Amino acid sequence: MREIHADAVVIGAGAGGLCAAARLVHQGFRPILVEAHDKVGGRATTNSIDGFIVNEGAIALEVGGVFEETFHLVGAPLDLRFPEPASAFYLDHKVVDVGKGGWGLLLGQMTKQAARILDKFAEARTGALPDGRQSTAEWLSGFTKNESVHAIFRNLCAAIFACNADELPARAFLTYFVSKGAFKRFGFSPNGTIGVWQSLADAVAKKGEVWLSSPAQRIEIENGAVSAVIVQRGDETVRIATDCVISNAGPKGTVALAGADAFPADYVQRVSDLRPAANIVYNFASREPLFNAPGIVTFGKTRRLCNMANMTAACPELAPPGWHLYVAYAVPKPALGDFDSEAEVAEGLEDLREQFPGFDAKTKMLSIRVMRDEWPAQRACAGYDLPRDSTVRGLWQVGDAVKDYGNGGTQACAETAKLVVDAIVAERAKAPQPAH
Ligand SMILES: Cc1cc2nc3c(=O)[nH]c(=O)nc-3n(C[C@H](O)[C@H](O)[C@H](O)COP(=O)(O)OP(=O)(O)OC[C@H]3O[C@@H](n4cnc5c(N)ncnc54)[C@H](O)[C@@H]3O)c2cc1C
Repeated sequence: MREIHADAVVIGAGAGGLCAAARLVHQGFRPILVEAHDKVGGRATTNSIDGFIVNEGAIALEVGGVFEETFHLVGAPLDLRFPEPASAFYLDHKVVDVGKGGWGLLLGQMTKQAARILDKFAEARTGALPDGRQSTAEWLSGFTKNESVHAIFRNLCAAIFACNADELPARAFLTYFVSKGAFKRFGFSPNGTIGVWQSLADAVAKKGEVWLSSPAQRIEIENGAVSAVIVQRGDETVRIATDCVISNAGPKGTVALAGADAFPADYVQRVSDLRPAANIVYNFASREPLFNAPGIVTFGKTRRLCNMANMTAACPELAPPGWHLYVAYAVPKPALGDFDSEAEVAEGLEDLREQFPGFDAKTKMLSIRVMRDEWPAQRACAGYDLPRDSTVRGLWQVGDAVKDYGNGGTQACAETAKLVVDAIVAERAKAPQPAH
């Protein structure tokens, strides 16, 4: 086994791992980032299918927060196109642009209780939030039974958090809308989402190293602190001695790498209780446009379908000439428990047929993928995240199982990276310096 040393090792080149490696570089570290797959991006990577550039996970990349800041810190270009309007609703086969009146106007057309609901958002801004036990659906039922309003809230929960309104704490929903980014401004990557991750990986590689096709096999722990990561790199097994490991492998993956004995029993129990949130991704193309809006539309009453993006309006290079590329998302019921994948895929397809008459004849289906279990939409549903410090000294976690309360998506993963790297830097600043 070859032996080397690194001042930090990052396991996994997903959103959280790449942002963590970039922030380490910015702080003067020379991290080694190891990734099991042969490309970066994790669950937000991109594939090529029949000449189309198809995204597996994230498409809407939020700017104006820690995600964008990470790119600036390391001088990585962030090439995004901004659809205008970015968001709309698709109700009764029509695009409803709520840009001018805000979605308060839309609610106002559906229920007399709109003002009361909006008041609660205003109260939430002052810190008056429901406790974490009440679901979003229960909270909303306190104001209205209107099915269209419930459908919109369900589809917002599904689109943003990959779960149903009866699975998401109202506290997390409101926190996201009043104090997190809430996807107010986002762009699509014209190279597929992998383009932004590759840009970050290139910046990391200038000061540190990025090893693809290099799964970490074990995290070594000595006296309650990390001491090394064992990595398979091609034919070679490499032992990287280090006292700082940031894992983007998810809590279950991290515990498996270090061994359950390294952690307190209650932490291991919390990790095994973690329920990932699932969604279903339909990538398809058509010769004729299916709807006339350049960004993402959220649906009203559906079985499972929640939202859909028009990728080629802003990024025509994602499809061969003459084609329009779309991605639609459905969230199963339940999204946090076990479900029948085949039946749930069929429900989403029925919705697509209902929303777009003649769907089968008009479209070419490129891929249908169920994101669940070990490769889910979110490793932890918002409101149920684990802490970022793992109880083992020098071992930290980033990614969408350790998000700040009420946050979601790649922005939340970037935020976990900032919080972890800031904590590492602060810890080092406090540690006694060796005498010279
Ligand atoms: C269909 C779908 C749509 C989404 N849409 C959006 C959106 O529009 N906007 C948005 O912001 N978010 C969206 N999200 C959420 C977002 O994609 C994820 O939250 C985010 O990509 C998760 O990143 P992560 O940091 O948790 O890492 P992951 O993506 O889980 O990456 C972890 C990486 O670690 C690697 N790894 C694991 N174990 C090892 C090991 N032992 N050794 C080496 N490497 C290892 C894996 O191969 C992987 O590459 C969407 C998700 C899905 C599924």
